[in-house]
Amino acid sequence: MKSTMMNYQLTIPAILQRAKEIHPEKQIVTKMNDESIHRYSYGEFYTRVRRLMDALQKAGIKPGDRVATFGMNHYRHLEVYFAAPSMGAVLHTLNVRLFPEQLVYIVNDAEDSIIFVDKSLSKTLSDLLSQFKKKPKFVIMDDLEAMEAAPLADAIDYEEFLKNGNDSSLPLPEVDENKASGMCYTSGTTGNPKGVVYSHRSVYLHSMSICMSDSLGVCEKETVLPVVPMFHANAWGIPFACVMTGATLVFPGKHLLGHALASLLEQEKVSIAAGVPTIWNVLYQHLKKNSYDLSKLHTMIVGGSAAPLSMIEGFKKDFGIQILHAWGMTELSPVGTVCRLRTTMKDWNESEKMHFLAKQGPAVAGVELRGIDDQGRDIPKDGKTPGELIVRGPWVTVEYYGNPSQESFTEDGWFKTGDVVTIDEHSYIQITDRKKDLIKTRGEWISSVEMESQVLKASGVLEAAVVAKPDEIRGEVPVVFVVPKEGESIDKKSVLGVLKENFANWQLPNLEDIQVIDVIPKTSVGKFDKKVLRTRF
Ligand code: ADP
Repeated sequence: MKSTMMNYQLTIPAILQRAKEIHPEKQIVTKMNDESIHRYSYGEFYTRVRRLMDALQKAGIKPGDRVATFGMNHYRHLEVYFAAPSMGAVLHTLNVRLFPEQLVYIVNDAEDSIIFVDKSLSKTLSDLLSQFKKKPKFVIMDDLEAMEAAPLADAIDYEEFLKNGNDSSLPLPEVDENKASGMCYTSGTTGNPKGVVYSHRSVYLHSMSICMSDSLGVCEKETVLPVVPMFHANAWGIPFACVMTGATLVFPGKHLLGHALASLLEQEKVSIAAGVPTIWNVLYQHLKKNSYDLSKLHTMIVGGSAAPLSMIEGFKKDFGIQILHAWGMTELSPVGTVCRLRTTMKDWNESEKMHFLAKQGPAVAGVELRGIDDQGRDIPKDGKTPGELIVRGPWVTVEYYGNPSQESFTEDGWFKTGDVVTIDEHSYIQITDRKKDLIKTRGEWISSVEMESQVLKASGVLEAAVVAKPDEIRGEVPVVFVVPKEGESIDKKSVLGVLKENFANWQLPNLEDIQVIDVIPKTSVGKFDKKVLRTRF
């Protein structure tokens, strides 16, 4: 029997239209590079997006063309986020921290027609100009950094570009919900970046999903600050969800650390912030030594890497802030799981609750997940047996851009994440490692993530990363890199002592394989760069 429901198209212009109709007075705030604050309303945002759509068209951009951005989190970046897909083009967010050769590869692979670039970042692209095959146009977004823009072929200032476009009172164009709206490349933590293409429909559904209160809970009454960059899996979809709901949106620009970030959280009364663990670790150390009124900040979303238990406990105990642990991937738009405790867990003791909050949680509505062993059989839900996490859902990719190989998919079409998990009786997953980062000692797997979280319990340890080193007798042994807290030192024997409490003798690192270093190398999106660490022995 056929349903009687409308075939209403789930599109990004529909999200934009809602902002104009429902909450035009709500605010979008940006801390510019000179620390001044730019503030305007969703209504003004809408008008500028309409003009930008027209300007793009006049610049020769056609439906399907790739409109790239190379910028930090700010209001102009958001305008491009909406203008490009609303006129049928494809938003391509370039990661500003990639190595030059990866950047050249991605710009050429995506065949970007035009690139919107922050003034302060223009030098990076200027140095690579001759290697871009398609000769993109450039628009400079002035982030108020005290410098001149680097020379880029026929570059035009954003505000000048906008003057070419007219505002329009006509309805927004109708777009097919299944057409491409944006593309992102993975950050290449374990290999070369791979492209994923989102549709209007996948973005719309993902936005609705992260607005659910059991998920990230983005809604009108919240003031949301994504520290996670807009080039990292669309800042986890948060900008789209804010425009959809009218949440006040606060952009930090380049201010991601210490006082610059903490004072913005305080002044703008931010209630939800989102970022990777390394960012929150630095903020935690800053907050311990300096005082701010963060009484409005109730939730800090953490994803991208595992949030250590000590961090979750620390924020709760010292500042009353809840860490909300989420797992996702560029391939999933990106949110797949969010960890909140259920009402049925309310009588558990504090330590059990904390232990659960350090898991990545159950699948959000819309995503299905399973764990499978090497033979493709489902692992038991016992919270112990590891298996590879596989997922499916309306915002999960079915292939990589320009790569028909199906090696990342099961025969029946589930996406193989490459993450190793356990799943417990409540269907909460815990990522024990990425497959490529596991350590195989005497034929048994050790989770580097688990070892890292134990090492953090040793006195004076700020950060810890564990990688595998080949060993003639044991096959592989763990090498532990530790960074001391400011003004403190680390005793290797005490690190080993902490590990002895949780690991069998044959799993332990050799004392000389515990290495104290100044800083752990990070990837372009702030994850520990284990590829680089492995080159150190
Ligand atoms: P890349 O694969 O280049 O790192 P992504 O940013 O898409 O690019 O990263 C996705 C990966 O990040 C996941 O497969 C997983 O390994 C890791 N990840 C994301 N969130 C978490 C989390 N909460 N805990 C542990 N690992 C996570």
